[in-house]
Amino acid sequence: MCGIYCYVGKKKAIPVLLDGLASLEYRGYDSAGIAYVTDKINIIKEKGRLDNLKKLLDLNTDTYLGIGHTRWATHGKPNKKNAHPHHQGKVTLVHNGIIENYQELKSLLKEYKFKSETDTEVLCCLIDKLLKENNNILKVLSKLNELVKGSYALGIILNDDLNNIYGIKKNSPLILAKSDIGNFLASDIPAILKYTNEYILLDDNNIVKMSKDEVKIYDSKLNVLDKKINTFDGDINKISKGKYEHFLLKEIYEQPDVLYKTYLENQNLPDLKKYNKIHIVGCGSAYHAGLVGKYYIEKYCNIEVNVEIASEYRYKNNFINKNTLVIFISQSGETADTLACVKKVKDKCDTLGIINVIDSSIAREVKNVIYTKAGCEIAVATTKAYSCQILVLMMMALKKDITNLISKINNLLKNDYEEIAKKIYKSEHLFYIGRDIDYYLALEGSLKLKEISYIHSEAYAAGELKHGTISLIEKNTIVIAIATDKDLVEKTISNIKEVKARGAYVIYITTNSLDQESDFYDEKIVIEEDIYQPLLTIIPIQLIAYHVAKLRKCDIDKPKNLAKSVTVE
Ligand code: GLU
Repeated sequence: MCGIYCYVGKKKAIPVLLDGLASLEYRGYDSAGIAYVTDKINIIKEKGRLDNLKKLLDLNTDTYLGIGHTRWATHGKPNKKNAHPHHQGKVTLVHNGIIENYQELKSLLKEYKFKSETDTEVLCCLIDKLLKENNNILKVLSKLNELVKGSYALGIILNDDLNNIYGIKKNSPLILAKSDIGNFLASDIPAILKYTNEYILLDDNNIVKMSKDEVKIYDSKLNVLDKKINTFDGDINKISKGKYEHFLLKEIYEQPDVLYKTYLENQNLPDLKKYNKIHIVGCGSAYHAGLVGKYYIEKYCNIEVNVEIASEYRYKNNFINKNTLVIFISQSGETADTLACVKKVKDKCDTLGIINVIDSSIAREVKNVIYTKAGCEIAVATTKAYSCQILVLMMMALKKDITNLISKINNLLKNDYEEIAKKIYKSEHLFYIGRDIDYYLALEGSLKLKEISYIHSEAYAAGELKHGTISLIEKNTIVIAIATDKDLVEKTISNIKEVKARGAYVIYITTNSLDQESDFYDEKIVIEEDIYQPLLTIIPIQLIAYHVAKLRKCDIDKPKNLAKSVTVE
């Protein structure tokens, strides 16, 4: 979600900024812009992809300082006038986050003529107004926390201070990096790896002042801080598509490797048995991973587990006590709603994060963290990080070797399921059904398809369909039915027969031990049985979504309207 990329140094800034913004593209955005300094501040912005912005810029411009932004609109349409940077008075800035009290602030800023519908421009005016009262940007930024509600990471430049970039963050990610060619502020670590593998994690209310020769970080009392320099030890070269046409496909095929790595590097997992209740909190696919975790923990540890959507959990009564464990799942470790939930409960019970990005905000906020070893996930729709989250949850419940599982996944990946995708891609609606664990997989299958192919899809507990939704089944409505649970397979088959009788075209996913010849399905996918079944079931589900999206010519790695790291509420 949204990318901030600021640079000051020896190199011509426009290509550096465009390159940096391109490395943040995967986070999702709908417009982009930069402000660069010559003898003045120049602002260029445009709707849509970075290529549109690039056409408006001269890469050779003599400029060595600039701030860049990819916007994921929250307040105001995704158009040129709402794109960042915003400028008012002597302030030009880029912003990631949401200013919650922007209406209230706007009413105090009547002297300004607003040019956009964004909450960001209000902040821009506020900073300009405060500078008029006290022409000291560090003092102004140190006051923001008292005045502004919500989340912000900011890159700021000023008309009368053309050698410096200022930055500040609260509840939105921002990192700082120093390199041989200059200094950077960026929304995440991969964006700076081309120049350096060293970075500094900024904490909330830290303020940065950086020129080409000097970087200073202050706390909110304006004391200078000496912050730890971290080193990224991952493989930078892995952040390319390699032989694959899309990151999503590459990431699906990486699953055997990253699952095995996650397994090997997480042999000492927390003991769940000491808790009498577990909550699992996440959003989107992380929530679905939590549901699979619930199934395994309840079945093998006999502990009650509630799985909660973070944006709901943060505003309701949570019924926790010191014997409760709350598990937070987030690939990026920056998901705003999940982070808010950690802050809400962390003093009342034990907290555990299942996180992919090292040192991310949630990882730093929870009491214990287990890192999934999925590596950098670039495609907006998650595949490998979701699987690793499931594996960690299952391992806490099961503690069984996964060597056989990995070879079974490799077998499944030999098939691409494109023929099945051809049966689906022209439909505008479809249903995923299953019971219990298979329902949880159906939820993820349905979400994956919606995310990348834009087909309207619903996941239903197989027994629930006839309580209303079966009215939507017509001749040739696609129903993908999952039945891998031997205790429930007969029940699910009865539900499949109900939709078949109403004309559905059924794609049936089952295991080799439950497989049977029959006429209740039109297509069948048979996968090997395993105690870690969901990690096998998910493979054809992911590949079907991929091939359907490809046949529909969708922008698979960067689906419309979606953001990778959802850093706003
Ligand atoms: N809330 C701001 C806007 O809508 C910033 C969005 C972002 O983080 O990209 O412009």
